[in-house]
Amino acid sequence: MSDSRQRLSEIPGMDIILNYDWVQSWIDKLGRIRVKHVINSELSVIRRSIIEDKSAEFSHASFKSSCLSALAFASHSGLRHVINASGVVIHTNLGRSLIAPEAVKEMSAIAAHYSNLEYDLKAGSRGQRNSHIEEILCTLTGAESSLVVNNNAGAVMLALSALAKGREVIVSRGELVEIGGSFRIPDIMELSGAKLVEVGTTNRTHLHDYERAITENTSMLLKVHPSNFRIEGFTASPERKELARLAHEHGLIFMEDAGSGLMVDGDEINLPANTNEISIKSCLDCGADVVTFSGDKILGGPQIGGIVGRREFVDKLKRYPMARALRVDKVTIAGFEATLRLYAQGLYDEIPTLRMLRLDDETMRKRAEALAEKLSQTLTAEVHCIEVEDATGGGSCPEIMLKGWGVSVKHNVMSAGHIQKLLRFVDVPILCGAKDDEIVIHVRTLQEGEDEIVADALAGVMNV
Ligand SMILES: *Cc1c(COP(=O)(O)O)cnc(C)c1O
Repeated sequence: MSDSRQRLSEIPGMDIILNYDWVQSWIDKLGRIRVKHVINSELSVIRRSIIEDKSAEFSHASFKSSCLSALAFASHSGLRHVINASGVVIHTNLGRSLIAPEAVKEMSAIAAHYSNLEYDLKAGSRGQRNSHIEEILCTLTGAESSLVVNNNAGAVMLALSALAKGREVIVSRGELVEIGGSFRIPDIMELSGAKLVEVGTTNRTHLHDYERAITENTSMLLKVHPSNFRIEGFTASPERKELARLAHEHGLIFMEDAGSGLMVDGDEINLPANTNEISIKSCLDCGADVVTFSGDKILGGPQIGGIVGRREFVDKLKRYPMARALRVDKVTIAGFEATLRLYAQGLYDEIPTLRMLRLDDETMRKRAEALAEKLSQTLTAEVHCIEVEDATGGGSCPEIMLKGWGVSVKHNVMSAGHIQKLLRFVDVPILCGAKDDEIVIHVRTLQEGEDEIVADALAGVMNV
């Protein structure tokens, strides 16, 4: 024990460490308080190893090198630009949709200036933050009224609470599946105070199942978009129009949680065929009274939850106190409005999510060939241009694999898993696929200028 005390005493004190030249330069970059914090955690690792391992000693060289890499890591923002080379367009872990450059401009202008967020310029008096989006959202969807909140989970909770608290909501069992780790309709229902009534079996629900479940206390029939799962085979679910008719015959509300929120019907914007996604407008046309959707999935905007539908219901939500707790920030409103303007103008390729989904085979193949060419010149590895399977992701079109192009790289010593790990630690981290011990760079989700960054990073980690 006295031995470890002796070895611990060789660790210099913080005051001395902070005066080292190599530490001084980091103090300028990170601030003294953060440098101290980083060094302290490195020191506690060293102290622990000295106490636990009789042969461990303080080494200035290894202390310096571990501090330098910890300081370098700490110098990056927590939230960083990463390169999505996975081919999954709406990647929930990577921030879902990229925001259109036009919308980014609006967001940054509104962020940096005062705005008429809650001021009515025409009337010269207090205004409503929702008003800026209301007209364009109603025009695009054909809705009587609309509201935006923080996200779709919030939209569903608000709608259920305001319209069905203490009453029954009938949902098909086949639609009660977990959506993304944190969104479960039964949990949201419970929080909202609505009572869930499940009907049918997981793969078959008929109109008469809904009809039989209707009681005096029923408030709503709810349809949930099966965003990230698909029950194959022997399935049945009543058409929207029939559900709407049944609801209205009984004086009930018919609500749809559309999930991904397609602003224009899939065939109109040439989304990959048979996606089986219908637009918010079509949901309303089929008789839905209220439709909720996400802003940052296939819609391709910032994170919001949209609510559109009949005025009497949507207006009730606007007045409901929970709406205040779910309200949307001004920067988000600016970005969403700008995205909707692009839809109104038909400029679908200006919306990155739509552009990436609509990319044609030829464009992707050429890009993959060019990247493969470049990589084969710089890397000592096997490089091939290959066909790959991309995906929409993000709870849109679950069953649809998109045919795409990519570049496979196989190193003769390093495993694919090891290369993938190294690529997470470069300046702009890269997330790519892997298959048969080759890494696979999918070009569909690479943004402009990222091909070069990928090529440089690969050379950096593989040519050692
Ligand atoms: C994604 C999704 C949600 C949750 O939406 P967020 O915008 O992530 O809150 C809810 N319902 C369905 C059907 C979804 O696909």
